[in-house]
Amino acid sequence: MSTTQTNKIETIKASSTKINEVDFSNLSFGSVFTDHLFECDYKNGEWQKPVIKPYAPFLLDPSTRVFHYGQAIFEGMKAYKDENDDVWLFRPDENYKRFNTSAVRMAMPEVPEEIFMSGLNQLLQLDEAWIKKGKGNAMYIRPFMIATGTGVIANPSDDYKFMIILSPVSSYYSGDVKVLIAEHFSRAANGGIGAAKAAGNYAAQFYPTNLANKEGFQQVIWTDDATHTKLEEAGTMNVFFRINDTLLTAPVSERILDGVTRKTLIDLAKSIGINVEIRSVLVSELVEAAKNGTLKEIFGAGTAAVVSPISGFSYQDVYYELPKIEFTMALQLKTKLENIQNKLEEDTFGWTVKV
Ligand SMILES: *Cc1c(COP(=O)(O)O)cnc(C)c1O
Repeated sequence: MSTTQTNKIETIKASSTKINEVDFSNLSFGSVFTDHLFECDYKNGEWQKPVIKPYAPFLLDPSTRVFHYGQAIFEGMKAYKDENDDVWLFRPDENYKRFNTSAVRMAMPEVPEEIFMSGLNQLLQLDEAWIKKGKGNAMYIRPFMIATGTGVIANPSDDYKFMIILSPVSSYYSGDVKVLIAEHFSRAANGGIGAAKAAGNYAAQFYPTNLANKEGFQQVIWTDDATHTKLEEAGTMNVFFRINDTLLTAPVSERILDGVTRKTLIDLAKSIGINVEIRSVLVSELVEAAKNGTLKEIFGAGTAAVVSPISGFSYQDVYYELPKIEFTMALQLKTKLENIQNKLEEDTFGWTVKV
């Protein structure tokens, strides 16, 4: 992966900054955006000249393909500022590769590494003042691509727009998260698009998640579509279970997104001597472990919240409350990961990349 800036991207600067209007001590996730964005269009079978320009709305024809057939993919990553004011990305090559895997699955063009990486780096450098120091503070980065060709014919678009927008975030505590294990709905199916970070996967989750919310659960734990017996993901996060002192998580598959946080936590856990098993975890096994007291923790893992502890789950109308543990693996792993990301602890894995 290259972070060298071979080409300076054409940059149109905003005439003024919005930074003074932002209360950085009170950010709600993903709601504030910086002064600039990165944009590169795909036309006539090739990527056009990229540009960095002021963040602003843009016009699209009502027949624009993304509105009708949903060719839309995205990534979620973060940049951190250390005590020396240096800015760091965390495993950006993983997000870049996954973006193109998603693109291929959605019949969209792959973005060249030079465009993705130089766009990312130069945008972050330009809006560097928006990245705040201190644990929990980060810049959430949202690269995305949409089909911009027009006409409601149900074919893949010829034209696309790739953009990167930046949103400053601070750590958030998700509160008490109770989850419902899916007995009917599915997030993904074999042969489907579950392994792609496709916008449609999220749209499909909203309705069953709303139903769960009405019953008092914040999230759904998705099970496999064919049998609903295997535990797969928690909301839009990968999911880990601790039974006794072993950490369990499902292998990634066509139905389970290959999360960067997931694989990072697996490596971190192993490095501190935690026994990790990567295998299908059955609902019956979880219920059994909850009943006999060996189930200690469940947590979600993803870039946005890093680690999200779950306090209990419901299955077939029975609620199982997890024990309150003082020193959880969830917190131990989260602390270690955040320390590495914020350059407070040595990164022996080589995951952090300087902007
Ligand atoms: C983005 C996402 C994750 C988490 O991936 P990270 O790379 O760790 O942020 C997990 N599951 C789904 C369905 C996702 O969309």
